[in-house]
Amino acid sequence: MTFNEFNFKESLNQAIQEAGFKEPSPVQASAIPIILEGYDIIAQAQTGTGKTAAFGLPVIEMMEGDKGIEALIIVPTRELAMQVSDELYRFGKFGGLKTATVYGGTAYNRQIDRINQANIVVATPGRLQDLLKSYKIKLNPKYVILDEADEMLDMGFLDEIKVIFTYLPKERQTLMFSATMPKQIKLLAEEILNEPKSVTITQKERTNTNITQKFYVVSEHERDDALLRLIDYTNPGKCIIFCRTKKEVDRLSFYMTSQGFKVAALHGDMEQKQRENTIRSFKQGLVEIFIATDVAARGLDVNDVTHVFNYHMPFDSESYVHRIGRTGRAGATGEAITLVSPSELRTIKRIEKDVGTTMISEVIPTRHEVQQRKDNDLLVKIAETEITPSAIDMVKTLQHNFDIVTIAHMLASIIQREVDVKGKDTIGLTEHEIQKLIERSQGGNRDRDGGGRDRNRRRNRRGGGTKHRGRKPARQDREHREHRDHKEYKDRGSKEGNNSRLRKRNSNKKA
Ligand code: ADP
Ligand code: MG
Repeated sequence: MTFNEFNFKESLNQAIQEAGFKEPSPVQASAIPIILEGYDIIAQAQTGTGKTAAFGLPVIEMMEGDKGIEALIIVPTRELAMQVSDELYRFGKFGGLKTATVYGGTAYNRQIDRINQANIVVATPGRLQDLLKSYKIKLNPKYVILDEADEMLDMGFLDEIKVIFTYLPKERQTLMFSATMPKQIKLLAEEILNEPKSVTITQKERTNTNITQKFYVVSEHERDDALLRLIDYTNPGKCIIFCRTKKEVDRLSFYMTSQGFKVAALHGDMEQKQRENTIRSFKQGLVEIFIATDVAARGLDVNDVTHVFNYHMPFDSESYVHRIGRTGRAGATGEAITLVSPSELRTIKRIEKDVGTTMISEVIPTRHEVQQRKDNDLLVKIAETEITPSAIDMVKTLQHNFDIVTIAHMLASIIQREVDVKGKDTIGLTEHEIQKLIERSQGGNRDRDGGGRDRNRRRNRRGGGTKHRGRKPARQDREHREHRDHKEYKDRGSKEGNNSRLRKRNSNKKA
């Protein structure tokens, strides 16, 4: 199917083309015709499936443009308000439509001026309610859209929504969009929608198969080490690390910064300006590691996030879906990596069942493995490097004092220092230990002692690991011994690129 089949006006087709949309996503294909026919709608589709355009395109198609505010969109957070308003601006600009964004934390007057000139208003519930209650604005929109309704519920905005609707005209077309459909949302729908048609993009289509989901079992005190090791190993482009609390976000960003990573923190308590700047620097790629709480990262739409790390398991399946939906967007592939402690294994099973996906259990790579991978990447990089004229001059100068092999060794040592892997040799539980825990968490309690013995064995090995030089690397040894337990050992295909990219260490300082 193509967008042509909707027979949109020329200015809208132009915008779609400029946005680079080739064909409608499933939720767009289903919802757009219904909306164009004038029905109320309740639509459910996973995060990242194009819900904004699913309501934005048909509403803009139907708008006349010279009638003041024709469309009101209510969204749960400031970030989403800005994002949705950006996207709608893009769709409406060739038709001369103006958008205004309304959210808390900024001056009333400027927002009110903007609203009075706008055709489309995108608002968060709190500020919108304030403005309506104090009669600072009056709205008479033909189209009212409740976007990301489930998040609205999660954030406790249900009462505000109900109040807002008492100020809106009875004659209107109301559209509701949500990633999930909790009972309270269905009840709200009955209250505010008028004989709605519903669109549900089924479970099968909903699971984003572009996202590889893995989990690693670590003991509680190893989380930090495990996270840094995995970042070193996976060499992500842009990534988001999710924490449960603001305090954890602060602590982790402090720690990672102290370890030479360039990170940005995002949580609910930040000043508006600061949040905007942070998000912009992430979008532009000035910072590639984002540490955030669920609430702060709600709906965050950055297209090239390669990895999502769950520093802690989220509390529920819906948060899990929201979190991992930050990667694998717009057809790209992504990886979601979750750190769990042994006691959280049950949660993994529950989430897998709720969400209908499989998470692959993996063992944290050893220091040696990460080093090997980085060295390999470095060899590739060296082999592919173009030689510059000034480099030739530099080597000529060095050749007055050293032979060519010594020069090569010295240069390799400089760049090798950049990819030096820090930390303990092995982190986290072994494949065998994890398997035992999984069996136990599923109710089986065979061979209870086995796990304990194995833990001791590992502790012994760790103790001796650094002393015994010339041994096989611990991991290889581990894999060899536990070969039979290996069920799902996915190919960790080496990824090209400079592993030290994320680490802005200044090695000159030491010299
Ligand atoms: P949702 O609200 O379902 O989480 P969004 O509306 O934020 O998803 O869309 C996610 C991303 O996909 C946005 O960057 C959007 O521009 C892009 N997108 C939406 N529809 C299409 C389409 N038909 N083709 C390509 N990209 C699209
Ligand atoms: Mg959305």
